[in-house]
This record gives sequence, C-alpha cells and structure tokens, in this order.
Amino acid sequence: MKALVAVKRVVDANVKVRVKADNSGVDLTNVKMSINPFCEIAVEEAVRLKEKGVVSEIVVVSIGEKKSEEQIRSALALGADRGILVETADEIGALEVAKLLKAIVEQEKPELILLGKQAIDDDSNQVGQMLGALLGAAQGTFASEVKVEAGKAVVTREIDGGLQTVELSLPAIITTDLRLNEPRYAALPNIMKARKKPLEIKSPADYGVTTGTKLKTIKVEAPAERKAGVQVKSVDELIDKLKNEAKVI
Ligand code: AMP
Repeated sequence: MKALVAVKRVVDANVKVRVKADNSGVDLTNVKMSINPFCEIAVEEAVRLKEKGVVSEIVVVSIGEKKSEEQIRSALALGADRGILVETADEIGALEVAKLLKAIVEQEKPELILLGKQAIDDDSNQVGQMLGALLGAAQGTFASEVKVEAGKAVVTREIDGGLQTVELSLPAIITTDLRLNEPRYAALPNIMKARKKPLEIKSPADYGVTTGTKLKTIKVEAPAERKAGVQVKSVDELIDKLKNEAKVI
C-alpha cells in the first residue's frame, strides 16, 4: 500500500514571530523554517505503518518555494522513500494546494493520504477537507488513532468533548491531530541517506493548476502585549488581590 504525505514549510514552532512594520504579514527574514508540526506527525504515522508492514512506500509532497526541498529531505530522513516538490515562488491558496494534491493523487494512486490538520503559519485547516471534496474520497480529520485493517482505515477523531471513531474505505484522507503520535528525531545516518533518496521537481503547470489565491490578507497584527505581573508576599495578599483588585473570586 502506498502512502502520500503532504508537508508544508512553515516558520519553526519555537520562533517568536515578528509582524512586518506595515502589517502586511509576518517577517520571514533570517527566520528558522521547519516542517509544519502536524505534517511531521503525518510523516511519523506513515513511517510507523511502514514499520508494521501495512505501508510499502511513502511519497512526500511539498508545494512552495525551492527551499521546501529542505522539509522534504527532513521527511525522507524520518523514513519516507521519495519526494515531489511542486516548485512555485507565487503565493498559493488552500484550494490551489488541494487541486495540486488531487492531480498528484490521481497520478500516484496512494491508498492513504496523510496531511496535518492545519498549518501553523496561517491556521487555515482547509486543505485536507478540500482535497476530500475534490477527490470524492472518505476523510478522517483530527485523527488521534489510525488503524488500517482489511482494506479499511479506522480513525479515531478528536471532537469537542470526546472521541469519534469512523471507518473509511480506501483511498482515504487522514488529517493528524497532536495526540496521534510523537515524531522521532532523525538519526544522523538517516539524514545522510536522505540526501540520496529521489526528489522530483515539478511545476504547478505540469499538473495544469494556476497558482495564486482568491484570498487577500488585509492586515496581520501581533497579539496585545501582556502586562508585567506582580509578586505577592503571602497567600493572604494573593486572595485579597483576587477578591478586591481582579474581582475574580
Ligand atoms: P492548511 O489547511 O493550510 O491549514 O494545511 C493543512 C495541511 O495541508 C498541512 O498540514 C499539510 O499537510 C497540507 N498543506 C497545506 N499547504 C501545503 C503546501 N504548500 N505543501 C504541502 N502540503 C500542504
């Protein structure tokens, strides 16, 4: 069984982002970039399914600038077999990403398509669902457990206040939630091996997709600064402040 995993290059989760002075977006100058954490969980899940003998090949796809090759190589070092970079310097929207993934799925014919539940740069949470609609395929979003058995994927989904288990016929789309697994670190020999794994470079035109987006970002703002805290000397003083200043108890 083939698995296809979509990975996005985003600002590293540990970086404190700076908003550009003109509020047009986030300043990416000299900022560390990484695989989107939810995509890393998707790669890890595919690798675990390969280790269990369920999956035989893992193809990693990224769409974006040339440097997204770095994130594909990181996924290859974690255990994926080959990569496809759809290279574009243009801004690209969720629908266009989904259209490109649809074309790749039609070519590659994977039975499992794994994505992150959302990319942490714009928290869009749309590509998996759009891809499901475009392909007419079953989808299990926000997965916290995945089992593949008897030609079906059984996915436990994290929903408000509980869990929902769904059975999907293959090919199926699974989007990963935080608790699905804890991704491994790539070992140095695997990082070296990943350099030699195949990586195809394509363009959106190869798949007949026009880049761009129908969405215009009007303004990006940093959250309001938190006020500095005060240190209290005793529990009594704390209770007094909570009662009489904050008025929360
Ligand atoms: P989003 O809907 O943009 O929050 O992203 C959800 C998931 O779609 C991500 O975790 C990736 O698996 C996939 N995805 C989004 N954008 C891209 C991209 N440019 N290249 C590859 N995968 C992407």
